[in-house]
Amino acid sequence: MTRERLFLFDTTLRDGAQTNGVDFTLSDKLAIAGMLDELGVDYVEAGYPGANPIDTSFFAERRPMRARVTAFGMTRRPGRSTSNDPGLVALLDAQADAICFVAKSWDYHVRIALETTEDENLASIRDSVRAAKAKGREVLLDCEHFFDGYKANPAYALACAKAAYDEGARWVVLCDTNGGALPHEVERIVGEVCKLIPGDRVGIHAHNDTEQAVANSFAAIRAGARQIQGTLNGLGERCGNANLVSIIPTLKLKPEYSDKFEIGVSEAALGRLARISHGLDELLNRAPDRHAPYVGESAFATKAGIHASAIVKEPKTYEHIAPERVGNKRKLLVSDQAGRSNVLAELERIGLSLDKDDPRVTRLLDEVKEREAIGYAYEAADASFELLARRMLGQVPHYFDVEKFDVNVEQRNNAKGQRITVSQAVVKIKVGDEELISVAEGIGPVNALDLALRKDLGKYQSFITGLTLTDYRVRILNGGTQAVTRVLIESTDETGDHWRTVGVSANIIDASFAALMDSIVYKLMKSGAPA
Ligand SMILES: [Zn+2]
Repeated sequence: MTRERLFLFDTTLRDGAQTNGVDFTLSDKLAIAGMLDELGVDYVEAGYPGANPIDTSFFAERRPMRARVTAFGMTRRPGRSTSNDPGLVALLDAQADAICFVAKSWDYHVRIALETTEDENLASIRDSVRAAKAKGREVLLDCEHFFDGYKANPAYALACAKAAYDEGARWVVLCDTNGGALPHEVERIVGEVCKLIPGDRVGIHAHNDTEQAVANSFAAIRAGARQIQGTLNGLGERCGNANLVSIIPTLKLKPEYSDKFEIGVSEAALGRLARISHGLDELLNRAPDRHAPYVGESAFATKAGIHASAIVKEPKTYEHIAPERVGNKRKLLVSDQAGRSNVLAELERIGLSLDKDDPRVTRLLDEVKEREAIGYAYEAADASFELLARRMLGQVPHYFDVEKFDVNVEQRNNAKGQRITVSQAVVKIKVGDEELISVAEGIGPVNALDLALRKDLGKYQSFITGLTLTDYRVRILNGGTQAVTRVLIESTDETGDHWRTVGVSANIIDASFAALMDSIVYKLMKSGAPA
């Protein structure tokens, strides 16, 4: 039986960026876009060009990806022509494969929020779709408040959707913008829409305000829609968007869907789902949700007792899917499978192909497990993982030793009688037979240490001149008296490469030092500095 193609549209970088407390840097956006592309979603909606400098610079150049890079923005403003609306012009100029317009489809909003007529709103939809198509872009229309609009005035909501479809929009996306629709309503209304517009041109964009965004997405699929919009880990404003991390495995692993539909996510990519989900959390400096379906640490954890002994005998008795398929693991049994395949996938990514039964893979896995148990997280620290792996293979030269360092923080009055805090670091290193001492002042102890460490590396100095630290994130783990600090540092260099390193210690300076050292050594290795 041929299966129908279902399309996944990710809006982590656009709607997900509305999450309270989330602020993506450009490099975060590029890293997440890479993760999404690795996962195999069909569309990556990366932002709203013109709305802020980060989104504008994202779309200033082509971002080559397998997924279709999508720019988001509004249809032309009422009373303007498409060429006379600067927002629309910026959107049409964005370096994107597709443009997703948002337009009102609730007559009440058209009158109150847009202060225009229903006809002018329809004309704006038609003109905008036509202008984007003329630019050679694939076009999507997000019908904002579609379900509420349909309940209030079905004819007008349908007219908005139909206007975009008739004008040749590839997708008409029905949005539950307030997130209050219920699955049976979504199923009924999407069914009505699909009588007018073929389902393979209809998408669903659900919000999670009744904790049913995932259920609403599936309801829409049952009724005929063939595109699902959502975000990684359900990021999004208020209660979030439909969580693709839950939707994808359901589509892949539940015969109800997998028998009928095909998606762009491969079996192998599905096996990296947990790592991708946790990698996003690490980037955002948030603790992963232990109870997240499929990928949470507790998703396959069974308490000891009757269940445990049954699960030892036959895992299927208490598990709805095999955890390895989404890159997770059973917590009760010591199963190395997931960890091993993650490590193998990572080794392959950095160009080290080892056989899965190679004893060095086991050693590396043990090392990673030991370190993760004390707080290291390698999902978001690609460079530290690579160093760990290459050190084990004897591929990392011994460049220099830090014999000692001394960091101090002094609070005092300056000459003007103002209270100031000054940090100073002294670092003593040994490069070959040469001993070097550097002193630096910084805006904080870690900054001072970083500056001193990189001030004079002797014969290696020329290899690190392009090294810049672009981000520094601190997380306190475990709380209370056993608290340890994890530091995640992001660095870049003159080639534009980015890498991340991690350090863990009870002491924030030590943790930062470890992450800084990894970054410097990684840079030396990457630049081909001689041993
Ligand atoms: Zn939304």
